Amino acid sequence: MTDAQTPQQFTFKAETKQLLHILIHSLYRDREVFLRELLSNASDAINRLRFEMLTDHNVLDPKAELNIRIKADKDAHTITIQDTGIGMTHDEIVDHLGTIAQSGARRFLEAAKEKNQDASQMIGQFGVGFYSVFMVAEWVRVTSRSFRPDAEAVTWYATGDDSYQVSPAEMTERGTRIEIKLKEDAAEFADDFRLKNIVHKHSDYIGFPIYVGDEEKPVNKQTSLWRTSRQEVTEEQYKDFYRQTTLDFEDPLMHVHMVTDAPVQLYALIFFPAKAERGVFSLRKDDGLKLYSRNILIDEYNKDLLPEYLRFVQGVVDSEDLPLNVSRETVQSSGLMPKLKKVLTNQVIKELETLAKKDAEKYASFWSEFGVYLKQGIAASPADTDTITPLLRFKTNINPEAWSSLDDYVSRMKDGQKVIYYIVGEDSKSVLRSPHLDAFQADKTEVLLLTDPMDSFMLMGLHKFKEYELKSVAGAEVDGASQPRAESEAEKIPEGDFNSLIEKFKQVLGDRVTDIRASSRLVQSVARLVDADGSSNPELQRVYKYLGKEYETPKKVLELNPAHAMLKDLLALETESSLQTIIIEQIFDSALLVEGLHPDPSSMASRVQQIMEAALKGRG
Ligand code: ADP
Ligand code: MG
Repeated sequence: MTDAQTPQQFTFKAETKQLLHILIHSLYRDREVFLRELLSNASDAINRLRFEMLTDHNVLDPKAELNIRIKADKDAHTITIQDTGIGMTHDEIVDHLGTIAQSGARRFLEAAKEKNQDASQMIGQFGVGFYSVFMVAEWVRVTSRSFRPDAEAVTWYATGDDSYQVSPAEMTERGTRIEIKLKEDAAEFADDFRLKNIVHKHSDYIGFPIYVGDEEKPVNKQTSLWRTSRQEVTEEQYKDFYRQTTLDFEDPLMHVHMVTDAPVQLYALIFFPAKAERGVFSLRKDDGLKLYSRNILIDEYNKDLLPEYLRFVQGVVDSEDLPLNVSRETVQSSGLMPKLKKVLTNQVIKELETLAKKDAEKYASFWSEFGVYLKQGIAASPADTDTITPLLRFKTNINPEAWSSLDDYVSRMKDGQKVIYYIVGEDSKSVLRSPHLDAFQADKTEVLLLTDPMDSFMLMGLHKFKEYELKSVAGAEVDGASQPRAESEAEKIPEGDFNSLIEKFKQVLGDRVTDIRASSRLVQSVARLVDADGSSNPELQRVYKYLGKEYETPKKVLELNPAHAMLKDLLALETESSLQTIIIEQIFDSALLVEGLHPDPSSMASRVQQIMEAALKGRG
């Protein structure tokens, strides 16, 4: 035998040994990604051949179909994957499969050590390329014939230990054949049905036909829907695609099909689900978009393509700007991601604005499902507040049934009104009964009704819209000049009498309130509680309450309505009468109750009974 025919023994480099050791000895949850890696290599090899053929016509088998064939032998526990790509020479096979060519694998090793993570999850994210086959293989034999007509076929063989062998081979056709003897516990993969499923899941949109078994029909779709021109895609195809990728039983609310060339090249097919709740059968176990680089799935759940507050958006992003040989983690660190994110975010926001303008009803249904995400966005990313606020919708005291935007509110503002008013509460019914709204209802000033727990969080980031500040109606004299007041001078209790009434209240309530005073804001209501000037932000108090944090509500100021008939009657009662004391207590308790601040409402029962008895006696 000549030198060229003797099998040559090579030793893997230290790093490769280490990587193989991890791949062989760890437990993996998604070993099936080995197929994705091999198919991605096959597809790269065919792409490279295609490129060669553009300039070089002296190619072996120029007429051979550009394709990939997968064959499984159930009994022998083997899988064979053969492509008609560029192939490898003796030196290339040593070079490409004998060392870790890709920095991806090296970084993978570092990350696996550092984070002590489940390596298989990381393989899924990064991909370690060819070597991932050792998750399932007892041995691997790669036989290849380069596209150069004078090249000789070569075989590479390894079992995953420290060395590999290279020897001459018999192979007449161009391309690469990879034979895998599966480990006993990986025999499940030698099954056509299983293989087809994996191809569908991970490599459906590889641009060359992939055949499984002896079938003459490719299993993969080959052309991706997102790369197909919009005019050629039917509504039904979009829906189908959505259902297939998410297993959502409902149609999406809408889709966006994007193709851009600047500032980055991208294809994207994006869906807004109809419902926020993911069904139990949903395929999507996590948030994020599918990221493809030239038709090859790089990341199943990419969270870097949209801000967190748009995480309900589903779909696929594919970019030509990712270099051909990019490893999966260089994608993460390349400057491309922020650019893609910007383009996508702007588009999603624009689509929502358009929807709101063109189809208010559909937008309302979007808002009911996903409004809470946008509100959270305002709380969590103050930098995006201006982008998000035009998308917000509110119910108001004047329009309690319809959704109004802040622009709608501003367009209806009264002459001279300088601020946007809001009231925070538990639900719109109780909020509409709040004494804080008295004066606003009376003169028909519009107030936003904020009754969703997320509203309190949102208010932490939303202080202004255009030139208008947002103000709570529950504050004391928030804006004396423009805030509506109850004008009914004639019916007011004379000042001297009113002061003695305040004294009585002070005697009864003691230090449960910080102050008691007359209010010009009350019409129907007897009293209300407002924050003492300079006390901490009431929205923050609510946020603490929702977060279940121990937080003592600061004491409030009790404001009384000097024109209210009940106070006049109260004044007419005998001084020091026990009924007077009881009623003062009840006025205070009722005020606590409407604010949602009463610590123990049932404690009022016996007092309410005393008051009823007195009322009945009075009638009799
Ligand atoms: P990557 O694909 O990121 O380069 P891999 O570990 O997947 O890393 O593959 C290593 C190298 O092996 C490839 O860059 C390529 O040169 C070579 N290779 C792997 N599979 C094939 C194939 N089917 N045909 C030709 N070359 C291949
Ligand atoms: Mg690869």
